[in-house]
Amino acid sequence: MQIDVLTIFPELFAPFLTTSLVGKALSKGLLAVRVHDLRQFTLDRHRSVDDEPYGGGGGMVMTAQPWFDAVREVTAQAMARSAAPDARPPRRILLSPQGKRLDEAGVRRLAKAGDLLLLCGRYEGVDERVVEAIVDEELSIGDFVVSGGELPAMVLIEALSRQVPGVVGLADSVEKDSFRDGLLDYPHYTRPAEFEGRGVPPVLVSGDHAAIDRWRRRQALGATLKKRPELLESAELSEQDQRWLEELGREEEGG
Ligand code: SAM
Repeated sequence: MQIDVLTIFPELFAPFLTTSLVGKALSKGLLAVRVHDLRQFTLDRHRSVDDEPYGGGGGMVMTAQPWFDAVREVTAQAMARSAAPDARPPRRILLSPQGKRLDEAGVRRLAKAGDLLLLCGRYEGVDERVVEAIVDEELSIGDFVVSGGELPAMVLIEALSRQVPGVVGLADSVEKDSFRDGLLDYPHYTRPAEFEGRGVPPVLVSGDHAAIDRWRRRQALGATLKKRPELLESAELSEQDQRWLEELGREEEGG
């Protein structure tokens, strides 16, 4: 998967792209991320990317010209890179609090969507003509506002990297992540077996893997019921899951 990023703060990406799983994915060539400085596409000597808003009001708005030129150029570079005769231009995603809220299903959809071009806004956001003319989709990381699209872009890149085969050592651990099957993850424990008077659920040290799987599934259902019950409406549940949920509901009512 190839990801291009447009930002006025390319330096923010340097430590992120050289650290931990994303760093390894890049160095192994499992993922390619190219970060481009939007200011390189400005036309004035001050390399300005923003101007006052029409209609007044506070704050500055990112002007359309650098975005249009940068997106054209980076798209052309991406197409030239691709050897495939049926290569498609990268999907252009503007990180924006007005976008569709990112979730695990959205990450999986984008992981299959081919190459991406991420646009990181700043200030009050970008001139609306950018959204109208050169953006395929707006994506939000949540119903709150941060000061720029760089952290949201990193959130997306990190989530996408987990979907690339070989990035997470044990593919299994991605399969069992929260949201993968519509449920939250089950609780995890590691050594020591007792810590400050708190033990580990005995089933986990029983060596009975079928019993451990059953315990983990029931715990995942319990965590979801307690913390995010709305997820259960769209989760795929077996008859056994339904029985456990009834039991868990009764246990919760009983305190
Ligand atoms: N005035 C805008 C609004 O209220 O919708 C907020 C602009 S914000 C200060 C500047 C930039 O940060 C946005 O253009 C966007 O790229 C990014 N951003 C802020 N919050 C975000 C979020 N929740 N998800 C994705 N991007 C976000």
